[in-house]
Amino acid sequence: MKTRPPKKRTSSTKPPRAVLAKPSVAARKRSPKNGKYPDIRRDLERQREAILNETEEVLTHRGDIEAFPDVSDQASAEVDQNFSMRIRDRERKLLKKIDEALERMDAATYGICERCGEDIPYKRLKARPVTTLCIECKTIQEQEERARG
Ligand SMILES: [Zn+2]
Repeated sequence: MKTRPPKKRTSSTKPPRAVLAKPSVAARKRSPKNGKYPDIRRDLERQREAILNETEEVLTHRGDIEAFPDVSDQASAEVDQNFSMRIRDRERKLLKKIDEALERMDAATYGICERCGEDIPYKRLKARPVTTLCIECKTIQEQEERARG
């Protein structure tokens, strides 16, 4: 249910899954899981979709280059491959964070700071929906990381 396969979509002009843009009031009432941060959930799902589409584009693009061997010498093909692998690595990590955030929403633990257990302010969640720490704890964590080197 949570792992939807990425849709095959060649044009990115239309926002995907417009159905989600307006959840009906009835559906929201029936499902308390969606209740607390419905707009952030929507942001997360949109972002998730965008990443999946982008990743697909990178792969498609790579396919194009490989289809013209005279344009791509071995070196540039490797650079290109490293580049798309880096993108995929970064996006895979973000995708994981998004999935985890959605899971926390399902478990009704979303928006609670992992470290101090306080509610993370809505403004912070809206700006950075995958965060698991409030500003204070994030600052402390960063200081600790710097101290560790
Ligand atoms: Zn905290």
